[in-house]
Amino acid sequence: MSENVKEISREKSAALYAKAQTYFPGGVNSPVRAFKSVYGVPLFIKKGDGAYLWDADDNQFIDFCGSWGPLILGHNHPAVREKVIEVMQNGMSFGAPTALENELAELILSNNPFIEKIRFVSSGTEAVMSAIRLARGYTKRDKILKFEGCYHGHSDSLLVKAGSGLVTFGETSSAGVPKSFADETIVIALNDKEALVKAFEDFKDQIAAVIIEPVPANNGLLLQHKEFLQYLREICTANGTLLIFDEVISGFRVSFTGAAGYYQIKPDILTYGKIIGGGLPVGAYGASAQIMSNVSPEGPVYQAGTLSGNPVAMAAGIAQISELLKPGFYEDLSVKTEAFINDITAFVNERNYPVNLTRIGSIFWFAFDAKETIRKAEDIDPQSMSKFKQMHFELLNRGVYFGPSGYEVGFVSAAHTTAILDKAKQAIFDSLEVIFG
Ligand code: PLP
Repeated sequence: MSENVKEISREKSAALYAKAQTYFPGGVNSPVRAFKSVYGVPLFIKKGDGAYLWDADDNQFIDFCGSWGPLILGHNHPAVREKVIEVMQNGMSFGAPTALENELAELILSNNPFIEKIRFVSSGTEAVMSAIRLARGYTKRDKILKFEGCYHGHSDSLLVKAGSGLVTFGETSSAGVPKSFADETIVIALNDKEALVKAFEDFKDQIAAVIIEPVPANNGLLLQHKEFLQYLREICTANGTLLIFDEVISGFRVSFTGAAGYYQIKPDILTYGKIIGGGLPVGAYGASAQIMSNVSPEGPVYQAGTLSGNPVAMAAGIAQISELLKPGFYEDLSVKTEAFINDITAFVNERNYPVNLTRIGSIFWFAFDAKETIRKAEDIDPQSMSKFKQMHFELLNRGVYFGPSGYEVGFVSAAHTTAILDKAKQAIFDSLEVIFG
């Protein structure tokens, strides 16, 4: 850290963390929050507004984590907040249908050519778990194929070589997943056409679904070539296998219609989460009316939820999605993120710092000790994470908050003005100079 920059105080966060450790395993309710791979105790957050966060010690940060993606409008957006407050006046859950579910579904379906019917659930994990069950029920096959480094939530058959949360802790899979479940999951590397062809030969007529994050963003940002995604589409069709795009991060983020729209590739089932809820717990899966007709109570694939389509969460979704549909929303976000990342790229290139930045839309990632774009999990050098750890510390001390793992991506929101991004950029330059200068 340079001499005129002071280390932030974490006194109150430390006290809260000590107490939290008596309540929760590891002191947190989700593992990556524990700051295990960065310096210091986790910051306990008190407030968010626009592009900013404040912690319990009143440190202020420009936030690039955005609650891990949902806050595309920034924190506490007035339209979302007001709609939530309005709807809450009428009660918070009925376990019965409401007009709000129709309204949100209409906003999504009438602007998305890739799905005809949707089912709302309460998290991304639930969405993906349900999509897998639907694919298995529909094809009457058991095996699924996933890609190393892609995270699809924490349901049993998907916690195999599954990205940031696990790699941060040096594990490839979770304890407690029965071997027989994991045996139904075939895992291959991203961007590897040969391995894909071989898997389809080895498991002929057994693969119910191939699932991929079309924008893999949970183990770095491992952007795939469009040709590879297109090939996936073709090999699935040829083998009677359903293609699932897990768009829990990329959905409503890289474009309104997510990566499917960005790449113009139509998967069979799509899963969404995060952004639909505007910060409240929502997930969804969707497909053609024909495939969705297999879901209970119309069809034999059971899936349910007490809080599915919860009115308060639907209200947040309606407000947020309406903002995203305004003309120019994605162009503005992409243009300012591009300028921000281009300037940082120019800075590191001029100085020959070993940093490679990747970006798609408003998602970005800093790869350290990398010379070119990384497209596979195995090509990330775990040693390079020590550089991220240093950068994270330097950035916090300069008022910039990144998610606490070098395997996580950053998000720019509509609330990040050019002036705010310029401030963050300077903090990034100064931090990189401390590390490499
Ligand atoms: N799928 C992807 C691509 C994700 O990024 C995530 C979470 O980050 C999930 C599924 C699981 O979503 P949730 O954490 O809402 O259960």
